[in-house]
Amino acid sequence: MEIEPAEEVKEPPRIHRLDESVVNRIAAGEVIQRPVSAVKELVENSLDASSTSISVLVKDGGLKLIQVSDDGHGIRYEDLPILCERHTTSKLSKYEDLQSIKSMGFRGEALASMTYVGHVTVTTITRGQLHGYRVSYRDGVMENEPKACAAVKGTQILIENLFYNMVARRKTLQNSADDYTKIVDLLSRFAIHHIDVSFSCRKHGATRADVHSVATPSRLNAIRSVYGLSVAQNLIKIEASDNDPSSSVFEMDGFISNSNYVAKKTTMVLFINDRLVECTALKRALEVVYVATLPKASKPFIYMSITLPPEHVDVNVHPTKREVSLLNQEVIVEKIQSVVESVLRNSNESRTFQEQTVEATPSVPSVTNNDLHLSPSPPGSKSQRVPVNKIVRTDSSDPAGRMHAYLYKNPQKYLGRDSSLTTVRSSVRQRRNLKETADLTSIQELINDIDRKCHSGLLDIVRQSTYIGMADDVFALLQHNTHLYLANVVNLSKELMYQQVLRRFAHFNAIQLSEPAPLQELIMLALKEEDSDLESNENDDLKKKIAEMNTQLLNQKSEMLEEYFCIFIDSDGNLSRLPILLDQYTPDMDRVPEFVLCLGNDVEWEEEKNCFQSLAAALGNFYAMHPPMLPNPSGKGLEFYRKRKHGKHTQDGGNSCHVDGTAEEDEFEHELLSEAETAWAQREWSIQHVLFPSMRLFLKPPNSMASNGTFVRVASLEKLYKIFERC
Ligand code: ADP
Ligand code: MG
Repeated sequence: MEIEPAEEVKEPPRIHRLDESVVNRIAAGEVIQRPVSAVKELVENSLDASSTSISVLVKDGGLKLIQVSDDGHGIRYEDLPILCERHTTSKLSKYEDLQSIKSMGFRGEALASMTYVGHVTVTTITRGQLHGYRVSYRDGVMENEPKACAAVKGTQILIENLFYNMVARRKTLQNSADDYTKIVDLLSRFAIHHIDVSFSCRKHGATRADVHSVATPSRLNAIRSVYGLSVAQNLIKIEASDNDPSSSVFEMDGFISNSNYVAKKTTMVLFINDRLVECTALKRALEVVYVATLPKASKPFIYMSITLPPEHVDVNVHPTKREVSLLNQEVIVEKIQSVVESVLRNSNESRTFQEQTVEATPSVPSVTNNDLHLSPSPPGSKSQRVPVNKIVRTDSSDPAGRMHAYLYKNPQKYLGRDSSLTTVRSSVRQRRNLKETADLTSIQELINDIDRKCHSGLLDIVRQSTYIGMADDVFALLQHNTHLYLANVVNLSKELMYQQVLRRFAHFNAIQLSEPAPLQELIMLALKEEDSDLESNENDDLKKKIAEMNTQLLNQKSEMLEEYFCIFIDSDGNLSRLPILLDQYTPDMDRVPEFVLCLGNDVEWEEEKNCFQSLAAALGNFYAMHPPMLPNPSGKGLEFYRKRKHGKHTQDGGNSCHVDGTAEEDEFEHELLSEAETAWAQREWSIQHVLFPSMRLFLKPPNSMASNGTFVRVASLEKLYKIFERC
């Protein structure tokens, strides 16, 4: 950018009134952003006119032609001259009416806008008339007197050459092929809500309609005819309501997809007081529930209709009325979220428990045969795989023996070798599919343990408290009713992650490492790190040996690690994938070496339940929201970044970018400092936006947290001030 010489003082630019037609065109561009917005306005007008049948015809993605025909009450002859003027409407007369408005439209802007950016022709007939009228409009006014014409009941509105006078917009839209798709999507949404109206949507020249619905009393029928059987058969009915004026008043009903539904993108069809709207907060909240509750990584299908007292909805917050603002939105979102969560959990559990349990028998071969026999997976490597519940206990004091614990080439060799094997083995559930969740008793037991040990008082605090902020590097300040609590985010996140590992067991999405990391080097790094902490001096050869052995051990376990925990180790011994425990959260990669070492050293590989528990704990510890390795620059940690006087370690050396920095600024390691600032800011963001919302949904705080300092009640306001002083 050119820097202007300071001396030249610029005259302030003249202010003038915009030409009326410019104003109108600008405003029109806001209401009618794309062809689909025109279709939405027209269909809403048809609905407002009490139509029972609405059909849409589209040519060239809507740019060439959009035609919406309905069988509604029509438009009076005497209203035609002002029909397309701005702010002419039959739906609202005084501002207060907005409070109770039931119609979709009320601004009297849509038709007018269309005449500023396209050519509009209206054909309409009212009840009892022998003929209808046809008239065209441009820039808000009639182009000619209405002409009498033959007409069927209702109104037909034709928009031609949309955006003919907005070159840039037309160009961008011409290149995007998806406007017709958007129109079809829009009509599909309307069709499953207004089930007493028939809808159709067709491309010009096509013989078949892409949306075709007939009026039906059954919502599910409507969904089936619009979205297909694969959607309709995988839905659960859902209802919720609240009638407490001090918190929220609403009624909700709808359908949500169950665990068999599979889709890559969320479909959320939301109507609030019969208005098709978007509510990002609600959508996100429900997606979070799906991700956490259902084993498959599928996005949901949601149809939801919410009714609120009209005075609780501000419909006038968005020019296209696409967004509305609700009174008590947060409370409503939370309530709906918890209903969806419990419905899903129930459906999920009932599904899991339908599976039969095959009791472990003392005879090893029969279990093995049973398992292989019952598995529907095609013969091949998968069905040959030895499941983890058949881990063979070898001498746990012999590290070499440990390597055989999970996978061995020929299971037959071990059969009957040790009858105590069967006592180690938990009861084996019938496994229809290797990927079914919670079909391992041990995991179910660990999850039951979490439920059993849950502290109800703490659960209430976790669910109902408000996050205020971080009090220091480890403690967050929470408000619960009239009390303030300090909560240890490291302990809490560790526990949450541990629980998530068990809940998502075998159904993780993956984080792909940008570069595969060699296990052996990671372990070496961790050992060296440990060494410098302890100031002991084990020799390098020994470390190498340990690293080698641990790598070998993890290679042996790689199949189990991948299948159940999404920890992928390739054949060259590189770590390349890690599981996602919470959406939008990746662990601090500086901790990978420590984690890998911990996998080798701390996991109890010999017995199934202990193995899963210690693995979940290791992951929990790794993913926990520890303070970043770099000291916090917003506190005393700032000193760490001050350049040492004779230090040769300035990261950016003679960095010429700082030529005009002041002397004071130059005393800091800028690169490191900004890295630290980012790391701390990111952590704080994650704590507020990922950790606490997820805890509210999923964490079952164990009894131990009541006494181990995870929660500390702040006794008085006075103390609170002290905490703030520290920040
Ligand atoms: P709004 O819907 O906000 O009132 P519009 O510009 O969309 O404003 O429409 C202006 C008026 O035209 C409406 O108030 C309605 O009286 C009339 N109108 C528009 N479309 C139709 C239709 N399909 N059937 C009957 N009347 C219509
Ligand atoms: Mg309208």
